[in-house]
Amino acid sequence: MTPTRWALVALVALGILLTVAAIALVPWRLPRPSRADQAAALADVPAGVASRGRALRAALRPSSYGSLLVGLVVPLLLGFTPAGARIVAWVGQPFGGHWLAEALVGGLVILAMLWLVALPFSAWRHTVLRDHGLSSQDWGGWAADQLKGGAVGAVIGAVVLGGFYTLTHFAPGWWWAFGAVGAAALVVLLSFVFPVLVEPVFNTFTPMPAGPLRDELLTMAARDGLAVRDVLVADASRRTTGLNAYVSGLGRTRRIVVYDTLLREAPPGEVRSVVAHELGHAKDRDTELGALLGAIGAAAAVVALYLLGEWGALLGRAGVSSIGSPNAIGLALAAAAVAGLVGGPLQNLVSRRVEARADQHALGLTGDSAVFAAMQLRLAELNITDVHPPRIEYLLFATHPDTVERLATARGPSGSS
Ligand SMILES: [Zn+2]
Repeated sequence: MTPTRWALVALVALGILLTVAAIALVPWRLPRPSRADQAAALADVPAGVASRGRALRAALRPSSYGSLLVGLVVPLLLGFTPAGARIVAWVGQPFGGHWLAEALVGGLVILAMLWLVALPFSAWRHTVLRDHGLSSQDWGGWAADQLKGGAVGAVIGAVVLGGFYTLTHFAPGWWWAFGAVGAAALVVLLSFVFPVLVEPVFNTFTPMPAGPLRDELLTMAARDGLAVRDVLVADASRRTTGLNAYVSGLGRTRRIVVYDTLLREAPPGEVRSVVAHELGHAKDRDTELGALLGAIGAAAAVVALYLLGEWGALLGRAGVSSIGSPNAIGLALAAAAVAGLVGGPLQNLVSRRVEARADQHALGLTGDSAVFAAMQLRLAELNITDVHPPRIEYLLFATHPDTVERLATARGPSGSS
């Protein structure tokens, strides 16, 4: 069989594997609150909270759709016209057109262009968040974060570009096989190692002082059978007024991280409720699930890209001779943007199911649905959340069940509350 036939077989196998894993491991059967229960829960939301959330969403809408649009149009322009290939060739000229220079420097220039066109929308969003009192960051801090984010992206980008085009250069028929394994490994690495490495770039962490709250959080973790090394407080208030917590690390490195904003704004019972939700993610191994599905998806994407390279007309449009050559990076990014348009909402669908399971876990672990509901209302009020967004935006962007669904979950099926 030719490499192309093998690639086709691999793609079908990965597709089946992804489907089976998603069907078997995502908690699809978790009950969803009925429309009637959601309507009842909506009545619990103070009118001012609901209208403020709607107003913020409306104000953010132009920047949300704007960044979605440029994130699609710019890669399409670079990939489905010869523009991308010309830029890479031009950037590679001073290096004698060496493939590695085209891959690294040309690739990073293309990525920097995508980062730059997204920047105005990010700034717009920051303006709106500041106007609503949701961001505590001045423009200096915001710019520093953008640069840090860009630098982290450039490092990852250089590793991916260098690795990928080395493979395509030395294994023109079989790079998809090595690339699929590499992409899967990278997803796993980014899921587990990256958070621990990158967290300190953006925040400072201090151990939570000894006291009843710390003891209670550790007791909950113990009841979940989870070893936790420490409870840390992140200085999130430097940039946001939003409340959050998370559990990161695995096994011996696992720690509970609580935003300082959460400790300041919420009573201890509600902090417990948030942490109980995060412990649910750790106990149900949701990071592992995300890494597994992401790894299979990434491997499939690499193989699909190789097969796309068999489409001569497409290569002609991009003005390239092979999908594996560095001047086809625009085409690869265009394909990724189109795939992301479909893959993003699917990822969000899985995420919402997993988040609903963590909510159920929190309700079970704390045994206190009233505190859980109070926390959801507080989060909605302080994070200025749209408690029940329009369905299309829910399907496109929502990674969590909306506030109304979460309140309805806390109330339980009608009649029982
Ligand atoms: Zn969660």
